[in-house]
Amino acid sequence: MKELTHTFPGLARILGLVFLGATLSACSEAPPPPAPPVGIAGHENPLLAVWDTEFGVPPFDQIQNAHYLPAFHEAMEIHRAEIDAIVGNSDAPTFENTIVALEEAGNLYSRVGRVFGAVNGAHTNDTLTDVAQTLAPERAAHGDAVILNPDLWDRVNTVFEAKDELGLTPEQVKLLEETHKGFVRSGAALDGDAKDRIMEINSEMAQLSTKFGLNVLAETNAYELLVPDSADLGGLPGNLVALAAERAQTNGHETGWAFGLDRPSINPFLEYSPNRELRRDIFMGYALRGDNDNDQDNKKILARMAARRAERAQIMGYPTHAHFILEDNMAETPDRVLSFMEEVWRPALEVAKQERADMQEMMNAEGVPGKLEGWDWRHYTEKVRRARFALDQEALLPFFEVNAVRDGVFMIAGNLYGFTFHERTDLPRWHPDQQVFEVREADGSDLGILYLDFFTRPSKRGGAWMNSLRSQSNLDGFVTPIVTTNFNFPPATTDGPSLIGLNNAMTLAHEMGHALHGLMSDVTYSSLSGTSVPRDFVEFGSQIMENWMGEPEVLTQYAKHYETGEPLPAEVIEKLQASATFNQGFITVEFIAAALLDMGWHLLEEPVELDADAFETAEMQRVGLIEEIIPRYRSTYFNHIFSGGYSAGYYSYLWAEVLDKDAFQAFVETGDLFDSDTADRLRREILSRGGTRPGMELYVNFRGREPSIQALLEARGLTGGN
Ligand SMILES: [Zn+2]
Repeated sequence: MKELTHTFPGLARILGLVFLGATLSACSEAPPPPAPPVGIAGHENPLLAVWDTEFGVPPFDQIQNAHYLPAFHEAMEIHRAEIDAIVGNSDAPTFENTIVALEEAGNLYSRVGRVFGAVNGAHTNDTLTDVAQTLAPERAAHGDAVILNPDLWDRVNTVFEAKDELGLTPEQVKLLEETHKGFVRSGAALDGDAKDRIMEINSEMAQLSTKFGLNVLAETNAYELLVPDSADLGGLPGNLVALAAERAQTNGHETGWAFGLDRPSINPFLEYSPNRELRRDIFMGYALRGDNDNDQDNKKILARMAARRAERAQIMGYPTHAHFILEDNMAETPDRVLSFMEEVWRPALEVAKQERADMQEMMNAEGVPGKLEGWDWRHYTEKVRRARFALDQEALLPFFEVNAVRDGVFMIAGNLYGFTFHERTDLPRWHPDQQVFEVREADGSDLGILYLDFFTRPSKRGGAWMNSLRSQSNLDGFVTPIVTTNFNFPPATTDGPSLIGLNNAMTLAHEMGHALHGLMSDVTYSSLSGTSVPRDFVEFGSQIMENWMGEPEVLTQYAKHYETGEPLPAEVIEKLQASATFNQGFITVEFIAAALLDMGWHLLEEPVELDADAFETAEMQRVGLIEEIIPRYRSTYFNHIFSGGYSAGYYSYLWAEVLDKDAFQAFVETGDLFDSDTADRLRREILSRGGTRPGMELYVNFRGREPSIQALLEARGLTGGN
């Protein structure tokens, strides 16, 4: 996942709200001069002071909880003064004195926001969640006051109307267009009453989405399954047994094994536990988060959000929120999104039904009465997998120690782009588990700084994501990027190191892909740099990296037994290859179900607050979802769309997979997975370009044609006729 704000790319930078990424690229010319530092020399608040740390990384060792609120307030005041200066300029509006000035305004505010966003996501506490909630409406109001300032809009619009006569470079034109679009899409061109209503809605939405996310976190943390009898653990891998025992101790139990709703805990339990009742308990605990009619219930909150989004879209002149969002994306229209998903949904549902039949057969053969249920799916999937491919996931785990996987991803980046990674244990971090690396070009010059925060803990939100602490730009000198990647991998235990498995290895490669997209950026303007691209294009940069991780020639290099150093045996790799399309019906169906649910909520034509459960049930019946599968995210804990930036955008991951599978074929076709010409072209035409050109144009420049869906269907075994 990629971090986005509640607002829209492009516009977000204007508001100083962005947590997006970017950087410098490889050239053999003399290095450009560094940009002047951000901050106020000698300020007592470390968030506002000039950072004299090496590489200008945030001084996490000095920043305390109490610094955030005053820093935000002072930075907002400075930002307001900068905006006032632009508006109050007596010279006629020009690209420089308006568009570039806006680009440069709010630097400090943006910096505070990035640090807070990163720390609050990865290592929060009660004070920080309070700060987030206090600030949400203030920040929304601050952003609105900038973007809905009529005099500022006049200046931007004046420059925009003259854009063909200004002699601008293509990147400058793009910056101007994006800035203008940001204002228009925020309601700047509306009259007074409509504009006021937009501001009210934005402020309410900010509070609702913050509350939604906190409710999901609280419900996730509140659940515990305590298993007293070791027989109910089944063949759970030893390191996960140890982790569950530690969890029970931490939770105050003298004996037993405790499981929670974070995926690294619940998924293995569902796979291995032979006890159907316990599986049902934890499965329902997961599925009912935010849907328990208690103080953390999200049904009314999300229904209200969907209604307000529909209202806002209509004020802006769009039929629905989905139309409003998609206009700004690579896919452009809801119809195009729905028909593309339909093409994959139909074959995937057929394959999922066959998977269900295979599992039912095994359940019957075991003498287990009744029909397969949702909480049986993962359990029998593993059994069928073992029977069919003799693949034991547990036996694979020791080959995927987290740091070995990390080095594998570094190796891929090295082979493709020549990068080297140098650990810096001396740089400040927000948690002692965090790792920090200096990333260098092949010629030894600096590319940027990379943070990795691997392990799950209660202070971290679920999932995996990347964000940017500093974006690349080259406006007043070169600014190198600082990016962070965050995961929820099982930590090391007293019994052994962190063993993460192949799926988590893919996740590590995914977030590293976002990080590299940020690090390879080579543009002028920060708001067009790195991952500041449409959201259905942003997952391309991440997902392309996953393709190398499962390739035999790559696996043999990084997947080594943590005790013996022995590489993953060739016969195991063969089985992995043979089982690559296994269970893809389920994986594809649970994903598209969630993506369709997202579209359903955002294709509302009337701003009415619906019964969330009834709506979800009706939507899923309409598309024919089978009852043994629930959407990958049910509405009440769908953070991507109600607490992240992915409303009407969850489809993006699959859309981007069409691109990444098709792009990877470009390497396969050369006969060399690390073909340097192809890698150079990928970097030059796409990964260094940020959002300076439309995604489809960048893609065609790389591939020589538009993407084909065929490689995706083949990779997932959905081409029919097996
Ligand atoms: Zn992602």
